[in-house]
Amino acid sequence: MKRCDWCEGNNLQIEYHDKEWGVPVYEDRIHFEFLLLESMQSGLSWQTILMKRENFRAAFDQFDYNLIAQYDELKIAALLKNEGIIRYRKKIESVINNAHAFIAIQKEFGSFNQYIWQFTNRKIIVNRYQASKEVPSKTELSDLISYDLKKKGFKFLGSITVYAYLQAVGIIDNHLDSCFKKV
Ligand SMILES: [Zn+2]
Repeated sequence: MKRCDWCEGNNLQIEYHDKEWGVPVYEDRIHFEFLLLESMQSGLSWQTILMKRENFRAAFDQFDYNLIAQYDELKIAALLKNEGIIRYRKKIESVINNAHAFIAIQKEFGSFNQYIWQFTNRKIIVNRYQASKEVPSKTELSDLISYDLKKKGFKFLGSITVYAYLQAVGIIDNHLDSCFKKV
């Protein structure tokens, strides 16, 4: 069975690729989970994030943005002592900041899901490359969304991070032409 080449040789990445990557997300809680994980990734490997994913889930109240928005200095101090997650103050503070921005979007658009899918008119963008090295790291769409998110107060979500997020939540389907997950 052929898979996208980036996940080969790693069970955690294979399982993620087969079960989650590129499956369209329509639930706000899951959108927030991926925004959090992707924002944590910058400068690290996705493998590192996947390995720590359950630690993140436990540390950040199952990715409940309403609870995260209420985190105070005491909670930040506790998170900075948690060896199971990424202990980088600016990233942790950005998660709290992003929870506030996320809730503001829900209020403005009804849901984050409603907001994010409007960028493609609710359609999945399908690209078929032969190898991962051909896949761009960002596009005009990710530039636009990153810019808009920044305007709305989000941090640690540059265009490259946003492009990774759009692939994760299935707004962009970048399974390779040879991959069995290709629809
Ligand atoms: Zn694939």
